[in-house]
Amino acid sequence: MSSKDWIEKDYYAALGVDKSASSDEIKKSYRKLARESHPDHNPGDAGAEERFKTVSEAYAVLGDEKKRREYDEMRSLFGSGAFRRGARGAGQPGGAPFDVSDLFGGGAGGGGDARFGGGGFTDLFSTIFSGGGAGGGGRPRGPARGRDVEAEVALDFSDAVRGVTLPLSLRAPGVCDTCHGNGAKPGTTPVACPVCHGAGVTTRNQGSFSFSEPCRNCQGVGTIVEEKCPECHGTGGVTKTRTLNVRFPAGVADGQRIRLAGRGEPGERGGPAGDLFVHVKVRPDELFGRTGDDLTLNVPITYAEAVLGTDLRVPTLDGTVTLRVPPGTPAGRVLRARGKGVVRNDGRAGDLLVTLDVVVPAKVSDEARAALETFAAQTPPAAREHLDARVRRFS
Ligand SMILES: [Zn+2]
Ligand SMILES: [Zn+2]
Repeated sequence: MSSKDWIEKDYYAALGVDKSASSDEIKKSYRKLARESHPDHNPGDAGAEERFKTVSEAYAVLGDEKKRREYDEMRSLFGSGAFRRGARGAGQPGGAPFDVSDLFGGGAGGGGDARFGGGGFTDLFSTIFSGGGAGGGGRPRGPARGRDVEAEVALDFSDAVRGVTLPLSLRAPGVCDTCHGNGAKPGTTPVACPVCHGAGVTTRNQGSFSFSEPCRNCQGVGTIVEEKCPECHGTGGVTKTRTLNVRFPAGVADGQRIRLAGRGEPGERGGPAGDLFVHVKVRPDELFGRTGDDLTLNVPITYAEAVLGTDLRVPTLDGTVTLRVPPGTPAGRVLRARGKGVVRNDGRAGDLLVTLDVVVPAKVSDEARAALETFAAQTPPAAREHLDARVRRFS
């Protein structure tokens, strides 16, 4: 097993465990995966055989405390960070080519650690910098999908019910058009950093190891901008605003998330764009409520209207409708105006649900009181016998 293998292969991922997993967790995960992919259980399945090999190889290292420590150490040294600059250097205008011998000259190579001896280095660097590697220590250089973008939009109640198209402004980081991202004033170019000579990393020796870290003088970029771009002040990046027309379908609801495929951040190196997710908030209406595709409305009526019946003219979202309140309608009765709720694009429609609130006047005129007393004398008592029986138990 070479050092190149160790840097290239993520044994933790192979076993489906976290870097901080306990040895028991590693063992458990290994047993499960090995059982599932064992060639005896998957005769003739080349994929399973390959998985079994991978899992076994990973466990041979992670299952052994000493080997696991060495593996962790090696990957933390060479797996990330220090090589950032090298991996993207080629694409940067004005960036000096990354020189491996600069980085390790006289360093660990002669340090005598067996793991890094012999031809190990050549293997290692060709893996990291060839760019075509299978995704080991180096950063991927192939097409990368753009990031997803989240946005929030507040809609008026009636717009949400009927559907609406709204322009949506999105602010996102982008490359400065004035300097094309290199941060230098037009007509000037960035120069190689005098501290790291363009490498973007500096080397520090400690014992038999040599550590590389991003150059502090140039923040790992490898170049210095002497005259800054006036547009981006030397950062190479600006905040860009783009406007999209977003169609919200009829009946969109509060809390709903609308996905606009391919409207997120653009991809890199020809990769597909990310998606845009729009979170919808719906402002409440002062009259109507909403339950799914039904609209709701509370309508006060008098006791006399409930007893005698009446025709009620009530508003809908875009007109009026007349509802029949039959004589003897109890308080709280819900009347339904069919098809006066949310109308979906496919023609399905919710209803308007009208709840009748019987209101009790706080004050009445003398005439009304006299009439009511006459009425009361003509009215049988309310049906409370079932409660009276229970009340008597306590008296
Ligand atoms: Zn530098
Ligand atoms: Zn600029």
